[in-house]
Amino acid sequence: MSKLTPMMQQYLEIHSQAKDAILFFRLGDFYEMFFDDAILASRELEITLTGRDCGLEERAPMCGVPYHSADNYIAKLVEKGYKVAICEQVEEPSEAKGIVKREITRIISPGTIIDSTALEDKKNNYLLCIYNELNSYGLAFTDVSTGEFKTSQIVGENSTNILMDEIGKINPSEILVNNTLYKAEEIKNFIEKKFQIQLSPFPNKYFNYNDAKDKIKDHFNVYSLTALDLEEHILGIRAAGALMGYLEETQKTALPHINEISRYDVEEYMILDLSTRSNLELTETIRGKEKKGSLLWILDQTITAMGGRQLRQWVEQPLVDKNLIQKRLDSVEEIYSNIILRKDIEQLLKNVYDIQRLISRLSYGSANSRDLLALKQSIGILPSLKKILLQCKSSFLVEIYNNLDLLEDIHKLIQDSIHEEPPISLKEGGIIKDGFSEEVDQYRIATKSGQEWIVKLEMEEKKKTGIRSLKVGFNKVFGYYLDVTKSNIHLVPDDYIRKQTLANSERYFTPELKDIEAKILGAQEKVVQLEYQLFQDIKNQVLAQINRIQAVAKNIAFLDSLWSLASIAYDNHYVKPVILNNDEIIIESGRHPVVEKMMKYNEFVPNNCSLDCKDQRTIIITGPNMSGKSTYMRQIALIVLMAQIGSFVPAKDAQIGIVDRIFTRVGASDDLASGQSTFMVEMSEVSNILKNATSNSLVILDEVGRGTSTFDGLSIAWAVIEYINDLNIIGCKTMFATHYHELTVLEQQLQGIKNYSIAVKEGKDNIIFLREIIPGSADQSYGIEVAKLAGLPAEVIERSNDILYALENKEDSLKHQTAICSEDMMVKTKKDQSLNNTNLTLLNYRKEEVLEEVRTLALDQITPLELMNIVSHLQKKLKDSGVF
Ligand code: ADP
Ligand code: MG
Repeated sequence: MSKLTPMMQQYLEIHSQAKDAILFFRLGDFYEMFFDDAILASRELEITLTGRDCGLEERAPMCGVPYHSADNYIAKLVEKGYKVAICEQVEEPSEAKGIVKREITRIISPGTIIDSTALEDKKNNYLLCIYNELNSYGLAFTDVSTGEFKTSQIVGENSTNILMDEIGKINPSEILVNNTLYKAEEIKNFIEKKFQIQLSPFPNKYFNYNDAKDKIKDHFNVYSLTALDLEEHILGIRAAGALMGYLEETQKTALPHINEISRYDVEEYMILDLSTRSNLELTETIRGKEKKGSLLWILDQTITAMGGRQLRQWVEQPLVDKNLIQKRLDSVEEIYSNIILRKDIEQLLKNVYDIQRLISRLSYGSANSRDLLALKQSIGILPSLKKILLQCKSSFLVEIYNNLDLLEDIHKLIQDSIHEEPPISLKEGGIIKDGFSEEVDQYRIATKSGQEWIVKLEMEEKKKTGIRSLKVGFNKVFGYYLDVTKSNIHLVPDDYIRKQTLANSERYFTPELKDIEAKILGAQEKVVQLEYQLFQDIKNQVLAQINRIQAVAKNIAFLDSLWSLASIAYDNHYVKPVILNNDEIIIESGRHPVVEKMMKYNEFVPNNCSLDCKDQRTIIITGPNMSGKSTYMRQIALIVLMAQIGSFVPAKDAQIGIVDRIFTRVGASDDLASGQSTFMVEMSEVSNILKNATSNSLVILDEVGRGTSTFDGLSIAWAVIEYINDLNIIGCKTMFATHYHELTVLEQQLQGIKNYSIAVKEGKDNIIFLREIIPGSADQSYGIEVAKLAGLPAEVIERSNDILYALENKEDSLKHQTAICSEDMMVKTKKDQSLNNTNLTLLNYRKEEVLEEVRTLALDQITPLELMNIVSHLQKKLKDSGVF
């Protein structure tokens, strides 16, 4: 029986340590893949599948990629959701006895990739770990490309819903879970569908509390969890310890850049559920899933990638604490109102690279000397930055000023040591500046004088031999040689030793040349090694200061975010909101931040808003389609949300009482991805709102009830308003846009409800949208006028008007009849009426059609026989539609 070759045995043995990954097996200058991996990778990467003898009868399928371009291939596979295990040769092949020793050095997965081409600059890449026990969850997540590491836990009644909201906020690219959660099929399936991500089960032992605790204490270097404020945080610790365990297993390096674990509670931020996040288009649009057109797109003018990621986090989690909001607002104001400060910050931050990701590459050992130069340039601005921040008065800016370490020691170290234009590779020399290391300098002198000797030698040999064209050359394979053209060979002296024959010349060496060569090459080899060593030393010295550098990066990120908010406030004419201690929301001339940008200058019509939990709690908004109801409601929600982010807002004046949650149920959007019907989605979202809204929430309901038949929908909408408006149940601020005019009677029936509508003007034969919100309900729905604006054929419009007229007259008589009926009866009559209406409509339509055909008959152009046919056809038509 055939037997696997030793190398293949090694391959399989190593692969068994990372079964779920594609193994990149280093063989010389290539990473090779075998068997199923090879088949899969050749398809996914579009590379040729070959084969290799493996000792068995059949050759093993194989494909490979060159090691120097492996990053791209790895990024491609990871982007498609695969994991890649990198297996390196860990001893010099020349020193190996038997097969070269190999080991997995890192496993790269969607949540742990750090290659900059695979990452978006202004977006974190999170790896999330969830521990589940009964109805409670511990969470921990990290971005290994920046070093951020956070933990939280969710307990209590509504925990699974909150978990979904958190996942939506974190938006992870990889999720690890314990077995309990992996087996909770409903939740697992929901997450996988909703977030388009496979959950990876991670063995239970990693979630063991004591082990997890030790792991966290070890990594973050503390004696007790108290130091980390994690004492009572049992579920969070389980998740965090497991996450740390996963990093150890896969990254196989110390990860000094992950040096802070911060804990948060979900209540520290405004709670936004998934559909609200998506409806309000916070970071991406609903349709295109693009940043362009989202709120973030407007707010984000950040100059650095760090600022971009920070601002995104702010947008994803608006604050609920008045002091924290005020702190941001005051600093935005200071930058906003000082144009010189604004310009200075901009100029300086333009020189700053992505320090966070640079540092993480450094701790992964994948940084080169150019990264150090980028770090130097970035921190080089710190003294000037500190100087311009000295004048600042607002507390956040003062804090940044106080915390801004100048890192002058690190700047000087890199300045003194690293050559200004080093090669990319660390193994070619040319990294270290002259004057930094005496030893390097001496080798360089040796190399240089060696080269001078060679020039001298060439001259002497020319003179000695009389060969004028004699040259000393060098190539990598043969080293230094004396080149003599064929025509001069007879002049070559006896002590020349032949080295190589070419078509037109012969190449020789002499003992003296050999001697110099050894000196030069020896010096060069040594200097290259030495420079590499020095680079590692410098890198380690920088890494020893990693906490200080990261603190600077964080402060720059804050400053950049504040700067961005100030700049867009200035450019877009926003105003600083006043944060109130009560529950009012009063906005004068508010605008929708995104819609106004999509329009030409000044086309957007601003609108006021006044809401509180007392007299204007529930606002019912009616108005024709396309008049601006949805825009208006979103605009209010966005203004509140922006204020709680700490941003100025698009309005003339805004006074905002803090809300704890914003809920939106907008439109009848389909949710095909998770396989639920539209109406079902609509109702489960409404149910979520009714269960979770508090008296401090802001709720937006847009056309709720549209997804079902009129009377069902109306009844549901009616009951929902009653429920949400009731101070004993919820009693929060609510805006409700509807096309059910019937709902406007609620204003008279219940305290706290006010009707508003969006004004339209009736032109001669058109309506004009005024886009202005006014008290009172709309008197008509103008559906046909809107249809006309949308370009429906004139015939259809005309016909619709006729039908409407007929229906309305019918309705009037019906209304008259039902006025005396009981309420139950009224609903029944209305149902019958709607059935009758449908029949009536069809009938009228057929009759009209027949009449039209008769009217347009060109009698002088047809024969009597043709006429017979036409009349019979008309008769049939009338019969089919039940006229007779
Ligand atoms: P509705 O919800 O009443 O059907 P929308 O809110 O969807 O109407 O608004 C329809 C369109 O009207 C929007 O796409 C926008 O272009 C425009 N619009 C809405 N509000 C305004 C406004 N305040 N000023 C100018 N144009 C507006
Ligand atoms: Mg709408």
